[in-house]
Amino acid sequence: MTEAMFLVLIVEDDAGIRDVLRTLLESQHYRVAEAESAARGSIEARNRRPDLVIVDLGLPDRDGMSLIREIRRFSPLPILVLSARTMETDKIAALDAGADDYVAKPFSAPELLARVRSALRRNARGSGQLPLLRLGPVTVDLTK
Ligand code: CA
Repeated sequence: MTEAMFLVLIVEDDAGIRDVLRTLLESQHYRVAEAESAARGSIEARNRRPDLVIVDLGLPDRDGMSLIREIRRFSPLPILVLSARTMETDKIAALDAGADDYVAKPFSAPELLARVRSALRRNARGSGQLPLLRLGPVTVDLTK
């Protein structure tokens, strides 16, 4: 799979930041989808099956943290948090909720792109694993 085929979903209510991210990601030949709320982000994550989701924690309808937990219930796809919250407790909570990485705003473009590449690489390595369906504390191996 080449980078051109990767779809990145941006869940962010700030249109200015969405534009910056889209320009940045498209300059690296990623495909981009956008959502301006957690509700829309959840729908897009289910329907478009992105390779990576970038989630802002401060969303208008509900906290990005709850969106991370929701996505984790149906998908292991890489989740990168992009947030103005810089408290260590926020970072820990986001990682514990299921995020793979955390980038603080204001962010550096080269660092963000490096973290996107890193998350996609980790995911590609894990894609050879057996399909597992996680239902809360229960894990079902679909090959058995
Ligand atoms: Ca926000």
